[in-house]
Amino acid sequence: MQPVLQAKGLRFCYEADKPALDGVSLDIFAGERIAVLGPNGAGKSTLFLCLTGVLAPDGGEIVLHGQTVGRKGRKRLCEHVGVVFQNADDQIIASTVAAEVSFGPMNLRLPRDEVARRVDNALDYMDLQAFRARPPHDLSGGEKKRVTIADMLAMQSEVLLLDEPFASLDPAGSERLEAVLARLSDEGRTLLIATHDMDFALRWATRAVVFAGGSVLADGAPQAVLADDTVLRRAQLRRPLLMEVWDTLRERGLAPADAPCPVSAGALARLLDGRAD
Ligand code: ADP
Repeated sequence: MQPVLQAKGLRFCYEADKPALDGVSLDIFAGERIAVLGPNGAGKSTLFLCLTGVLAPDGGEIVLHGQTVGRKGRKRLCEHVGVVFQNADDQIIASTVAAEVSFGPMNLRLPRDEVARRVDNALDYMDLQAFRARPPHDLSGGEKKRVTIADMLAMQSEVLLLDEPFASLDPAGSERLEAVLARLSDEGRTLLIATHDMDFALRWATRAVVFAGGSVLADGAPQAVLADDTVLRRAQLRRPLLMEVWDTLRERGLAPADAPCPVSAGALARLLDGRAD
């Protein structure tokens, strides 16, 4: 199967001889849910900026559907790859929420009624209809974050990159976002989420990619990567809480020794009740 999007030996320096990305290679396949993990400064945001065409890599290449994206082809990336930046203020430009969310689809030169339909859908998805006439800059951090997610949804891109999307959301907002992510995944979108939330990564991801010092340190199934103490130590990450609980239950003989760690509290309850997932 051909990857949707590939990074091949990507290199990017903000300052000479200090690579923020130092030979990053990643094959991203349709429908994957990838948790991008690593300490601050590991290069996660820089990778996202390169993959959406905001930054042009200094070395290596980006390949979209098997075709190398050259400097002139970066617009193609914007059309196929949507992004939610870490800081909503870096992304918001329009004077009302509705204008903000319509900006991307208008740039695609879509018919007016299609733009209106996409804006309505995106505002419904993010529970923002009541905010549509409000200036985005007057909204709270979490509300602004929801606007930038609506921006991304309205583009209907096939690959979606979200950089720490839960950072400014309250618990209800986080729950809503997780439901939106599940829906997007069910619709077949490919999702990459940079996060420090290891419990979310275990629960949600089909693949975990760990960055450290501008390179990929580990790439594989979350249940294996997130249990690898060497990787966790080198990337200054902590084990998901559920893995700690699972180890304790196994040490006490309260859980089967050979079963893999369940990925959610519900799956743990079912396993302890003797019901398979
Ligand atoms: P992460 O998203 O994993 O926290 P970043 O991609 O933001 O990592 O940063 C990677 C490296 O690039 C860090 O050393 C960071 O200090 C540096 N960096 C990021 N943005 C800039 C910038 N605009 N100017 C100079 N250096 C930067």
